Amino acid sequence: MTLLDVADLRRSFGSIRALDGASFTVERGELVGVIGPNGAGKTTLFNCVSGVLESDAGTVRFDGEDVTDVAPYELPRRGMVRTFQQTREFSTMSVGANMLLPTPDHPGERAYHAVFRTDAAADRERAARDQAEELLAVFDLDTMVDEYAGSLSGGQRKLLELARALMLDPDLLLLDEPFAGVNPTLTRDIAAHIEALNDDGLTLLIIEHELETLTDLVDRLIVMTNGSVLTTGTPEEILEDQRVIDAYLGN
Ligand code: ATP
Repeated sequence: MTLLDVADLRRSFGSIRALDGASFTVERGELVGVIGPNGAGKTTLFNCVSGVLESDAGTVRFDGEDVTDVAPYELPRRGMVRTFQQTREFSTMSVGANMLLPTPDHPGERAYHAVFRTDAAADRERAARDQAEELLAVFDLDTMVDEYAGSLSGGQRKLLELARALMLDPDLLLLDEPFAGVNPTLTRDIAAHIEALNDDGLTLLIIEHELETLTDLVDRLIVMTNGSVLTTGTPEEILEDQRVIDAYLGN
């Protein structure tokens, strides 16, 4: 079943056509990578799909509904959550507190109630704290719970970003360069976490600059160039595709 259906999405910045008619679908349960050279439009694609940026034209359908004009803070409630290339933790707050805080883009309802007590139900707070504790343990961040988030390494921040996104119980998780700036050991850890999440039924779409990083991880790759989808296929198919090789070599 199709979970995400992006059709002819367009977005320009002045004369730059960052998205020039991007179309693709993602099936429920898939683990899909979005690759493409610098400036291909990958981040703009995520920004438009997640509502952070308004698109000029085109449609985004999620779980059968048109969400093209749905506000970014509304999408997590519907099951779509994203992370950012520059992680968005609150550096002067503890790791534990970060897990319970809504972000401006993703006000996690349960976390929100836990912090702001707009609802008197103490069990909501307990549920959020339990979930935060569990997730921090999964990502080996439990010993850091009382540390400032700002004291984490770049790789640990990526893990915290992932853990915070999971507080929102997504059906679809969009990850913007989860491996960028991460050392090889932590890269393998993050990849293993992503695989496990997908095994548990989570659908994932992952932006990555380097083609090689995703080849062993994803079911399928979407290759973007010049604001649209050049082709899609299994990593094996993509690695042999002359058009992809040319795009990467800039021919
Ligand atoms: P990278 O791998 O470098 O992150 P990308 O594939 O994510 O690249 P985008 O960041 O989406 O590409 O950028 C696509 C094009 O749109 C680029 O030419 C970029 O300079 C331009 N662009 C993106 N955001 C803006 C903006 N806010 N204002 C002006 N131009 C922008």
